[in-house]
Amino acid sequence: MHNTGAGKAKKETKRRGIGVTWTLFAFLALFTVFVLLIVWVFQVLLLGRFYENAKMKEIRLTASILEDNLENENIESIAYALASDYSISILVYHIDGNDAVEKFSCNPTGRSVIHHMYSQSIKRLYGKAESAGGEYVEKQSLDAFRPSDDVDSISTIYAKIMQNSDGETYFILLNSEMAPVSAVVKTYSFQFKWIAVILLLGALVIAFFMSKFISVPIVKLSRSVNRLAKGDYEEKFDGNGYREIRELSDALNYASSELSKTDALQKELISNISHDLRTPLTMIKGYSEVMRDIPGENTPENAQIVIDETTRLSELVSDMLDISKIRSGARKISPEVFDLTETVRATMCRYEKLTEKDGYHIEFISDKPALIYADRTMMLQVVYNLINNAINYTGDDKKVTVRQQTSDGKVRISVTDTGAGIEPENLQYIWDRYYKVDKVHRRAAVGTGLGLSIVKSVLEAHKATYGVDSTPGKGSTFWFEMSIYSPGDEQSS
Ligand code: ADP
Repeated sequence: MHNTGAGKAKKETKRRGIGVTWTLFAFLALFTVFVLLIVWVFQVLLLGRFYENAKMKEIRLTASILEDNLENENIESIAYALASDYSISILVYHIDGNDAVEKFSCNPTGRSVIHHMYSQSIKRLYGKAESAGGEYVEKQSLDAFRPSDDVDSISTIYAKIMQNSDGETYFILLNSEMAPVSAVVKTYSFQFKWIAVILLLGALVIAFFMSKFISVPIVKLSRSVNRLAKGDYEEKFDGNGYREIRELSDALNYASSELSKTDALQKELISNISHDLRTPLTMIKGYSEVMRDIPGENTPENAQIVIDETTRLSELVSDMLDISKIRSGARKISPEVFDLTETVRATMCRYEKLTEKDGYHIEFISDKPALIYADRTMMLQVVYNLINNAINYTGDDKKVTVRQQTSDGKVRISVTDTGAGIEPENLQYIWDRYYKVDKVHRRAAVGTGLGLSIVKSVLEAHKATYGVDSTPGKGSTFWFEMSIYSPGDEQSS
């Protein structure tokens, strides 16, 4: 058995798996990588394309504004403004038959490619635009022109043939220099590696601190739970930290207090049971030995004592069984519709002998028959326990009155005696298991100390109201109240 335990412990250690630090780090690292990926795609991979598109848009916009203003007197100043705004060089020719006359030009950067072209090149571009339907774009690497200049500089030439409303033909050449994006991309990619390393390290540090914040209270709680498991019910769960941990520690504190109650109850139960069982057993053993060993002691009186003690013992055992069955839920309520008045009256028959022999006056007063929907056997036991108590504790006049009153759909049964009553400070305890007011003379007092506890359990299981009114020196009235049966109660229960 010991080996299996050790094996289990080993297995459990193996099952530990990754802790919260690494789990958090994994998630944070994943998130970091995701963010980096997005930034990389936009900043590095697609930067050139975005830049090119933006530039082409500017060129086309310039061309269309020029086209719209071909007849405008201020076209030159408009062109200058556009050229300097977008760093675009502009050349506009007026085409007259085979001749191309330069209308105006601007070269704001001084680096224009089109301004240094031979007329053959311009003609070539015109031809290309003509055959492409009026618009032609050409990209040229600037390395050829300026070998010492930045690498990868690209010059975009845009050629467009357009006509004004008078049918005159114009040829517009635009030229824009594309900044060398590859250098920027290179810088970005270099930075990117460092950013990735720094972010991942940051994620690790954050994961470490977050996990400390999350796991420290959990570790503390689990240590406390281990102490609780070993039976230390004094252990208080300290729930400092975040809300979930506070809730968990509250729940654990509650569980611990409930466990300690159960534990105390169990200990008390065992000591009570052993005491209650031992006393009659000692008596039975003692009397039996006397009857066996001492001549003349084998009398019917002594035999009666043995029988009484045995009866007491079996009552005790059956009471204990009843109460534990009801409490643990092993004894389920099986309700039925029955006449409570008739049941109480039938119970009274049990006491007929007592009435005849010992001079008890047990009276039953009822108004009208009342049907209830409840567990008949259990209710019988309630009535029986209450009447029994009343008989046991009633005064010298030996009077016990059982009353049944019905009103507002409720039936109330009360059992009144004329005994010593119960002191107010004891009233709340009499329903507890094994509680006896007269503790000193436990043996002398009749009963097992379980009767009212059974009554309480049964009535609570039936959701009935119950209670006791007692005046010390005058007597007590124990009562309970239940709903009178009305068709449909079966479904609702
Ligand atoms: P017991 O078997 O001792 O009667 P119960 O649970 O029935 O146990 O009752 C618990 C205690 O309540 C009794 O020991 C007694 O002190 C008190 N008690 C119960 N019924 C009465 C009563 N009718 N008059 C006075 N005291 C009572």
